[in-house]
Amino acid sequence: MTPEMTSVTTPPLIELGAPVLGEAEKAALAEVVDSGWLTMGERVRRFEEAFATLHRVPDAVAVGSGTAALQLALAAFGIGPGDEVLVPSMSFVATASVVVHTGATPVLVDVEAADRPLLSLEHARTLLTSRTRAVIVMHYGGYAVDMPPWRAFADKHGLMLIEDAAHAAGLSGVAGVHSDAAAFSFFTNKNMTTAEGGVLLVRDAELRARVRRMRSHGMTSSTLDRDRGRAVGYDVVDAGHNFRMDELRGALGSVQLARLPEWNDTRRSRTRRYREALAAALPEVRVLFDDAHPTTAHILPVTLPPGTDRAAVMARMRAARVQTSMHYPPIHEFDFYRRTIGPVTLARTEQFAEVELTLPLHPLLSPEDVDRVVGSLVGALHERTTHG
Ligand SMILES: *Cc1c(COP(=O)(O)O)cnc(C)c1O
Repeated sequence: MTPEMTSVTTPPLIELGAPVLGEAEKAALAEVVDSGWLTMGERVRRFEEAFATLHRVPDAVAVGSGTAALQLALAAFGIGPGDEVLVPSMSFVATASVVVHTGATPVLVDVEAADRPLLSLEHARTLLTSRTRAVIVMHYGGYAVDMPPWRAFADKHGLMLIEDAAHAAGLSGVAGVHSDAAAFSFFTNKNMTTAEGGVLLVRDAELRARVRRMRSHGMTSSTLDRDRGRAVGYDVVDAGHNFRMDELRGALGSVQLARLPEWNDTRRSRTRRYREALAAALPEVRVLFDDAHPTTAHILPVTLPPGTDRAAVMARMRAARVQTSMHYPPIHEFDFYRRTIGPVTLARTEQFAEVELTLPLHPLLSPEDVDRVVGSLVGALHERTTHG
């Protein structure tokens, strides 16, 4: 029997991810309720300014989700039926579904290598056609895509360069700097949260103004402007959406943003501990990328030895009270995409998806928790070899 089986208390669950929420968030929400002004106000504006400052760009547009941010980028660039957009298959499905919603066709691109899940520029180049209008790159796990070569590729072929920066909040100096637009997500499992929410950074000031209008029905003035007597009427100059962020989320965002750099430091520090502990205990399990790679350390992705029964490993770790996951099932293998764009083979993406395992990582995870996770992975892999 293991010591755990004889113990009267089960060990606490180590969660895959967990938002950090406390008194500051409660106070910020209460303050919005007390103010009586729930949407389209100064709190969202202040959050946008603070987000832009942290990312060293002139301005930011807050929206209702990361998906809405991506959708607005494509809409503001006028991407639609007949167009093709190069997208990663190794991403969350929203990276492709936003393209479908514009009426354009997503063209799924492979990753650089079976242990390097960033979009392959070399493969993207082979998929260019006269209809290609844009490319979306994704900072997998918060690990920075090398943007200057993508900028040169986009410029050479007249494409819009969009970043899915859902994992990259706080990747200052990279995310939003080289692209035409960068979309961030503040869903509960991201590095900072507003429950649901997102931001779009847009390089060109005119396009940014268009995005801001399209976020709110394509109208030329806001409720706040009219309320404050700054504008009396409005025109509608685009087919817009209601993709606004409200004041409750704006207030939450400002509180979370102030702590984001510290949380990302903790994530990077725990990632280093994982690297050291796994190198010592399980050299056949590799933490992706290396310590010098710029990252927000959004998740902790490892590759298991080929042939490992991942489902069994995950079940054994769950029994040891450790949550795990995998990022991501390839988009080109989903039923909808197989039916609508036909069968596609992306060998490196498929190989990676078979061996990737995501271990717990969040700012509340202690160094001892990291050791417990590694211990449970050692146990889970050992069981495999002893029991076949
Ligand atoms: C979370 C996520 C999204 C979508 O963001 P939402 O805010 O949930 O709409 C898009 N792409 C990636 C890679 C994500 O992880």
